[in-house]
Amino acid sequence: MSNYLSEKARGLIPYVAGIQPQEPGWIKLNTNENPYPPSPRVLEAISRADIGRLRLYPDGDSNTLCQQIATHLPIPAEYVFAANSSDEVLAFAFGGFFSGKANVMTPDISYGFYPVWAEMYDAGTNIMPLRADYTIDPHAYKGADGVILANPNAPTGIALSLDKIETIIRQNQDSVVIIDEAYIDFAAVESAVNLVETYENLLVIRTFSKSHSLAGLRVGYAVGQPHLIDGLQRMKNAFNSYPLDMLAQMAAAAAISDRAYWDETRSRIIQTREQTSYRLCELGYPSLPSQANFLFVRAERAKALYDFLLEHKILVRYWSKSRLDQFLRVTMGTDEEMEAFLSCVKQF
Ligand SMILES: *Cc1c(COP(=O)(O)O)cnc(C)c1O
Repeated sequence: MSNYLSEKARGLIPYVAGIQPQEPGWIKLNTNENPYPPSPRVLEAISRADIGRLRLYPDGDSNTLCQQIATHLPIPAEYVFAANSSDEVLAFAFGGFFSGKANVMTPDISYGFYPVWAEMYDAGTNIMPLRADYTIDPHAYKGADGVILANPNAPTGIALSLDKIETIIRQNQDSVVIIDEAYIDFAAVESAVNLVETYENLLVIRTFSKSHSLAGLRVGYAVGQPHLIDGLQRMKNAFNSYPLDMLAQMAAAAAISDRAYWDETRSRIIQTREQTSYRLCELGYPSLPSQANFLFVRAERAKALYDFLLEHKILVRYWSKSRLDQFLRVTMGTDEEMEAFLSCVKQF
């Protein structure tokens, strides 16, 4: 560690993302990317772009993109904020709504980045254990200074129904409740976007990385009442006035305009998930009931299975933490990739 590091930087424990091997030949089921390419409209939009305009700064508020997102949901455009990945939107939200608070509730098993932002923005967390069956107990989330949870949750894949989300929002009306819907497009439950016009303390955060096949483009957004959107804009303008480049804005708008393609690819992934879960169960590896684009697969010898898959150039995710170390998180690939994965598991 450099002697020049600030005390703040020394104290941080950064998030560790899944491996991104840069050489070909891997079956990559470790970072919940979409196995299908983005909508053909994305290439079309980027090819059509006036490259001469890249000498100018882009629209710092991504208005055209926000309008397109608003049309897709649908919701008024003043309820939408876009930035450079949902990770960035989440960071702005932690800074804007949780900084300095003492009792920000979040599940013990959830997205590993939440405690990192809490540390970064000096938010005290109240880590809420999942129940024995790995579900969130909505009644426990009461009187918080802030709530952050993923729905469906990661890495469990388990989703809460909208009435349970509403319970949490109602029990915490004096603080902001953030629902991270990175995986909602693969779920059968209703989105919390449907509650945004009713509750002034609800912020829903989403990404183009998973259901729009654009993890490499880095685009995320938030949906909330205009006073919360103002709060995010305030944080953005204290950090980076132009978080989304011109090409990313155009490409993301093109992707979300192609509803038919989005619907087809997400249905295919849901179908692959159901088939894979069934076949893994037959092999003696049951999964938690997932509503995301991955399965959290129970395996007594999870680490050994992880290593075996790795030897066969199949990447999945494993955490050597209590309550997680008897599972592997497996992203849904193409049917062909899942065949290769299943035959490797069978061999093991
Ligand atoms: C993937 C993921 C994100 C990050 O998405 P990006 O937009 O790619 O930064 C956020 N939250 C959860 C729960 C995720 O799984």
